[in-house]
Amino acid sequence: MRNTFGDIARQAEIDLTADNVNVGETIDFLEFYAREALRLAAATTPIQYPGERNELHYIPLGVGAVISPWNFPFAIMAGMTSAAIVSGNTVVLKPSSDSPTIAARFMEVLEEAGLPGGVVNFCPGSGASFGNAVVEHPKTRFIAFTGSKEVGLDINQRAAKTQPGQIWIKRTILEMGGKDSIIVSADADFDKAVDAVVASAFGFSGQKCSACSRAIVEEAIYDSFVDRLRERVAALKVGDPAANANMGPVVSEGALRTIHEYIEIGKQEGRLVAGGNLIDTAEKGYYVEPTVIADVAPDARISQEEIFGPVLAVIRARDFEHALEIANNTEFGLTGAIFSADRVKLDRCRDEFHVGNLYFNRKCTGAMVGAHPFGGFNMSGTDSKAGGPDYLYLFTQAKSVAEKLS
Ligand code: NAD
Repeated sequence: MRNTFGDIARQAEIDLTADNVNVGETIDFLEFYAREALRLAAATTPIQYPGERNELHYIPLGVGAVISPWNFPFAIMAGMTSAAIVSGNTVVLKPSSDSPTIAARFMEVLEEAGLPGGVVNFCPGSGASFGNAVVEHPKTRFIAFTGSKEVGLDINQRAAKTQPGQIWIKRTILEMGGKDSIIVSADADFDKAVDAVVASAFGFSGQKCSACSRAIVEEAIYDSFVDRLRERVAALKVGDPAANANMGPVVSEGALRTIHEYIEIGKQEGRLVAGGNLIDTAEKGYYVEPTVIADVAPDARISQEEIFGPVLAVIRARDFEHALEIANNTEFGLTGAIFSADRVKLDRCRDEFHVGNLYFNRKCTGAMVGAHPFGGFNMSGTDSKAGGPDYLYLFTQAKSVAEKLS
């Protein structure tokens, strides 16, 4: 797989801000799914039965609703949409009401590329009214959704209810939230682990489903790890990303309020070691300090609930066994990482760290299309692996044709 255009877009930028990555990933999705569609079109049955010609055709499902989140507003929206259309479906595209403009621009590009009218139908509307209507409509055949656990579960329930006139079972492809952990073992490369935790927790202000919101650190290095984290986080410059700040604002006043509430809860549940304040700034935007709360219990609210902001809980583990047990103690299962030089620990994590995207000795964000097919277990979604070799199957149904040869 060549990621040629995405790579060029990435290399053209010295600093990988979220926007550049967003564009590079979009290009990768478009190329990857186009090639995957060709592969599916050439599919055949695993066995040719003697005396017959056996065929297998992956045919479209029909009209699908694509409902996308505000974060990665280009890549996720365009990824789900392109997967649906290269598989032969038509789409009712409902982007997040926080980020509809880039979807409108994408529509212009599709039109410029000659996509026939009616294949993608741009419908920017509110989640509660338009979103519900399109999910419940009897002619909707499938729903490709990326967003929060709460909305994903609601869509799942609504889609399961058969409407008058509906003649199929709606398919749901749901990619939802996360509460992602990095385990730092006593034998880890300490500096690399600190760097990765900071990058995973505070990149894009922690507003990634894959963001590290829990650092689970073995007792033997816990205190020095927290000290180093405090230093590193205090040095992060918060401000306008266009002016090369390390961390920008969060998306909305509502998000700022929620994050602040969680910081207050965190102060009760643990020890504030960095950040903790909203930033009063002349710049337009909702700024909050990158925040680290240490000594958090594994079952505390800030250890369990998705905050979707720059708030990191640090949890002390007695040893590796304990760390692994903590890593698996949420209802989510999206991304995770372990830093360790011990092959036995890595192998244990491969088998027992129950997440859709597991990383060894690197950050838990930054999945690459094709290399890291992306999607989570449990309440993180239906394990629909975006950018993976199984993804297009979700947008198709397989028709088997057998012809008796005379
Ligand atoms: P959200 O759930 O609030 O909204 C997602 C989309 O659903 C939006 O388009 C919204 O308008 C729509 N919506 C809201 N209510 C609806 C309803 N009742 N019926 C139909 N549609 C409805 O999520 P968000 O704030 O935009 O995005 C952040 C969330 O997305 C986080 O939880 C994050 O973890 C998750 N996320 C997951 C992935 C992944 O790949 N697993 C990727 C990115 C973001």
